[in-house]
Amino acid sequence: MPYLVRRPSAYCEKWLEADRIEHDVEHFRPKASIARWDVPAHLREELRAAGFRVNQPHRGSEPGYRLLAYHILNYATVCKECNSVLKRNLFPITGKRSSDARDPTKLASEGALLIYPLGSHDADPEDLIEFCGASPQVRAVSGHDRLRALVTIEVFGLDDWRGRRSLILDRMEWVEKLLWALQRRHRGQDASNARKAIERLTSTTFRHANCLRSFRRLYEKNPVEAERLYEEKIRPLLESYSPAKGLS
Ligand SMILES: [Zn+2]
Repeated sequence: MPYLVRRPSAYCEKWLEADRIEHDVEHFRPKASIARWDVPAHLREELRAAGFRVNQPHRGSEPGYRLLAYHILNYATVCKECNSVLKRNLFPITGKRSSDARDPTKLASEGALLIYPLGSHDADPEDLIEFCGASPQVRAVSGHDRLRALVTIEVFGLDDWRGRRSLILDRMEWVEKLLWALQRRHRGQDASNARKAIERLTSTTFRHANCLRSFRRLYEKNPVEAERLYEEKIRPLLESYSPAKGLS
């Protein structure tokens, strides 16, 4: 059987090419320095209302987590857009920074505002962020978990139609494929193959896993609502931005 590694970018869940040109090994806690993050106004207000303050350099940068430079639990395989363009050296927290830490599993008290997406020592991103169609939504109604989800969506542009349109359209295309499989299973058309496709498309290691798994949950609870969401929010955009018409 041919061996082919396919894995999604840990933050945006788009597929990474197998040749590694597209891969960045990102340090979740930056190893060299921490840069200042300009907090958008709507998040400043959320933070203030929740009684939190972002701990980060007032200007310029401050030293990073040099002792975590080679720690396996400080790595994530991500796309260049997520790492080099969006996250860079950002690592906003709400607690006291432990720059001399040696073990990333013992840093909960820092109050990180980004979610470490791999392994089990941080929250499962699916518990904090879900999707409505192709749009990420915050699950918690209040508290630090709500802020982490908001900041993660903001920093990685997960709902940024201007900056990450191709990512969002890709999600929509896979939601469409999943919907067709769900409908075939529902109607009993080639149900066995439809079931296999649904399992493949909603496995935890598939591209856009969180988005597709959210859509499957919605369809299984309320197929009419899932179909309405697709008809109103997804199909029109896919038709507007079809390759035949080009992206504009
Ligand atoms: Zn990415």
